[in-house]
Amino acid sequence: MQTYENLLNSVEKHRKLILSAEKYIWKHPELGYKEWKTSAYLEREFEKLGYTLTKAGNIPGFYTTIQTGRPGPCVLIMAEMDSLICPDHPEADRKTGAVHACGHNAQCAALLGIAAALKEEGVLDGLSGSVRLCAVPAEELIEIGYRETLRQAGIIRYYGGKVEFLYRGYFDGVDMAFMFHTSGGELHFSATKGSNGCIVKNVNYKGVAAHAGGAPHKGINALYAANLGMQAINALRETFRDSDHIRVHPIITKGGTSVNVIPSDVVMESYVRGADINIIYEVNKKVNRALSGTAASIGANVFISDRYGYSPLINDKNLLEIAEKAMRIVAAPENVSVKDDWSTGCTDMGDISAVMPAIHPYVGGAAGISHGSNYYIADPEIACVESAKCQLVLLHMLLSDDASAAKKVIDERAVRFPSVRAYFEAIDAFFRDKEAVVYKEDGTIILDY
Ligand SMILES: [Zn+2]
Ligand SMILES: [Zn+2]
Repeated sequence: MQTYENLLNSVEKHRKLILSAEKYIWKHPELGYKEWKTSAYLEREFEKLGYTLTKAGNIPGFYTTIQTGRPGPCVLIMAEMDSLICPDHPEADRKTGAVHACGHNAQCAALLGIAAALKEEGVLDGLSGSVRLCAVPAEELIEIGYRETLRQAGIIRYYGGKVEFLYRGYFDGVDMAFMFHTSGGELHFSATKGSNGCIVKNVNYKGVAAHAGGAPHKGINALYAANLGMQAINALRETFRDSDHIRVHPIITKGGTSVNVIPSDVVMESYVRGADINIIYEVNKKVNRALSGTAASIGANVFISDRYGYSPLINDKNLLEIAEKAMRIVAAPENVSVKDDWSTGCTDMGDISAVMPAIHPYVGGAAGISHGSNYYIADPEIACVESAKCQLVLLHMLLSDDASAAKKVIDERAVRFPSVRAYFEAIDAFFRDKEAVVYKEDGTIILDY
């Protein structure tokens, strides 16, 4: 049986490997479903450690399974590979504007550290079951248009990397999952009760182009319709209950082509975020009514594409309790905080938590504003090395003693969907591609949202 000290040492031995991975991936930021260099780098490092990998192939990412030699549950540990777009960041990639302003590079480094430690002699002693390590693409829900082209080309079916991996069966046989997300602040480790889910919207207002000076009366201004749509959404805000944590934040990604032409083709993207799937669905209906009603008000039309984004994250209570113990072994108690708060961002870890016990705690070490132009990994010791140590200790707590702790997590699991299949059926029902205003010949107008 391993002592915690031995476990911590097994990670400590690979400090250099971990820290250089953090630096390499920071210097090679890539956007979701384009993380080819990151994936190749990690694949090489995993293979050097002696792992056989299952690679996703047509998208970046891979996983490997480690058997302890004794039957028991399978625990999945993940790291996200994708970066964000933040061209203002001084270290952003000049061509793509990509930068790791969410610290996923540190997650990958920690995962590599766990992989290296698990190869150390004796680290698997006393464990039952198996461990799946997975480098997953595309957590940030951005470049929706690009992901839609991948979807239409049949390369992916879902925008989120974890959802796609789940759909592909890469998590079949997994009983529970965890990942530690990088964060800023003074704390080394923290966690909340959960976080919002969302629907992703692509909204295309259609008008009629005309000479903006010579013949505006012949046009229908899609940009004005979109502006009205945004105002109508704003007028709905006081109907959102505080406790539902609703967030609707549209942007216009195409507002017109030439200043002397009445805009006929205007594109908006938005999320509708909230704490519960049913509430998100209800609010999204209101938003679609606002978008279609405003289009109709000036004779325009609007094509609404809705895709299920991410499920609300519900951190598994038992798993989080064990994680908190692991955090307190690795960091001083004053540097650990597990609270009943709610986060209003979204992650596709929420989707994993909808089908199996899962947790998504935070590990410190970052500085600056998350997703902002001054974000960086200020303390890689915490963000990467301590993170790997904590995750390894957590794994041990779950799978030692005939995996009794993991078995308790499974026995008392309280997940939203009874099966992965039921989950996919439910989220597929959110899919919408529809023109929302029907102009009838008799002059009546139907809003079909
Ligand atoms: Zn992020
Ligand atoms: Zn992130």
